[in-house]
Amino acid sequence: MAEDAVTMDKIVALCKRRGFVFASSDIYGGMSAAYDYGHYGVLLKGNVKNEWWRAMLSERDDVVAIDSAIIQHPKVWEASGHLAGFTDPLVDCKTCKARFRADHLEERAVGLECPRKPSKLPGEGPDCDLTPARDFNLMLKTTIGAVEETGSIAYLRPETAQGIFINFKNALQSLRVKPPFGIAQVGKSFRNEITTKNFVFRMREFEQMEMEFFVPPAEAPQWYESWKAERFDWYQRLGIRPDHLRLREHDADELSHYSSGTADVEYLFPMGWSELEGVANRGNFDLTQHAEHSGEKLEYFDQPTGERYVPHVIEPAAGADRAMLAFLADAYDEDEIGGEKRTVLKLHPRLAPVKVAVFPLLRKDGHPELARELFAALRGTMQAEYDDGGAIGKRYRRQDEIGTPFCVTVDHQSLEDGTVTVRERDSLTQERVHRDELVGHLAARLAAPWRSPKLG
Ligand code: ATP
Repeated sequence: MAEDAVTMDKIVALCKRRGFVFASSDIYGGMSAAYDYGHYGVLLKGNVKNEWWRAMLSERDDVVAIDSAIIQHPKVWEASGHLAGFTDPLVDCKTCKARFRADHLEERAVGLECPRKPSKLPGEGPDCDLTPARDFNLMLKTTIGAVEETGSIAYLRPETAQGIFINFKNALQSLRVKPPFGIAQVGKSFRNEITTKNFVFRMREFEQMEMEFFVPPAEAPQWYESWKAERFDWYQRLGIRPDHLRLREHDADELSHYSSGTADVEYLFPMGWSELEGVANRGNFDLTQHAEHSGEKLEYFDQPTGERYVPHVIEPAAGADRAMLAFLADAYDEDEIGGEKRTVLKLHPRLAPVKVAVFPLLRKDGHPELARELFAALRGTMQAEYDDGGAIGKRYRRQDEIGTPFCVTVDHQSLEDGTVTVRERDSLTQERVHRDELVGHLAARLAAPWRSPKLG
């Protein structure tokens, strides 16, 4: 297989150049670990989330949706253990004032360097003076109430999962669901992360896609296995190359005390293998904790058998931004067409921000009128763009760079016989399709099975 052309710098540059993702607050000098999504970034991340919803909801009949509040009762975080235990052990350097995660220092993590002497690791430079590790809570605090001094402290949620557990009873009562069933949520989470390298991989404000699957206790091991397989497969179905994806089971010493199994889906990012998603068998820890702290019974009563139990939970927890970054990294390619270099995103058509671009070959002779007519017909059913600026080759390149799978060109022949050229991004094949069949033709090709052309 050809060497990957992708680097993190190239992705960051492409994202900025083409309006996917910008460093936040740029005009004020920027804000670390915060990013703003531009037009194509909104469309791409939107497609990632839609594909997650499709796999969780539309293609199943045992998962329901929730959208819980970001600021919840502070007791939620007491019960979940986040208030006491959602911490990273941190080490400060008294000389340069930089902060490091103690676990990163221990494992000599990739990219770690002394800010004063980058060829050395922190602690190994001549002036380094590191403190012992101290626990630092990652939750972001805010104050609720009109007067800051008397208001009460609240937290921005550090994960979407707890919003699901506290709605377990609502789902049981309002939707008549019965284990095994899941509740899924997509939304923003906030963490006061210390190490914030690698673009949107680690941000302080990010989007999660989490699902809690409630099962009879005896069925937990088998559901854990099936959710690991399903989540691993989801990334591959959307085009991630199998040799860039792995499932890593946590060692016993990595597991939280309540978990009887956790596995990470990892992707081979430009900076190395890193977590994309965690799948955990959480036992009945969360429901039991919330029942204790709230005084509510959080259990399931099975009428036919007369059995009463606290369901066990399997949790696939993914990040929308991280998934998007993995899809971008996997799709990024550089090749040559007729001696000219091209940058292309070989994205799965379902993920591509724009599905089709329509070009008039000339800005005269009736080409723009027909092209506009086709554009209007297409955009009702798929994300489409119209472009009449510059040479046709340039317009193709622009679409390749944002991953548009199809370009449609109107030329002289189109006005004579009603056919247009459909050019495909990966194979570069061009075929003539009658204008009356264009919408159906493209819809069928977009829905067809797809395999990364990088696999050869
Ligand atoms: P990490 O070990 O990388 O800090 P985590 O194990 O703490 O991640 P979880 O709490 O399991 O992460 O969150 C589930 C998913 O949410 C992660 O797999 C990741 O995709 C995403 N995620 C977590 N933290 C961040 C972040 N700071 N920025 C972007 N995505 C994140």
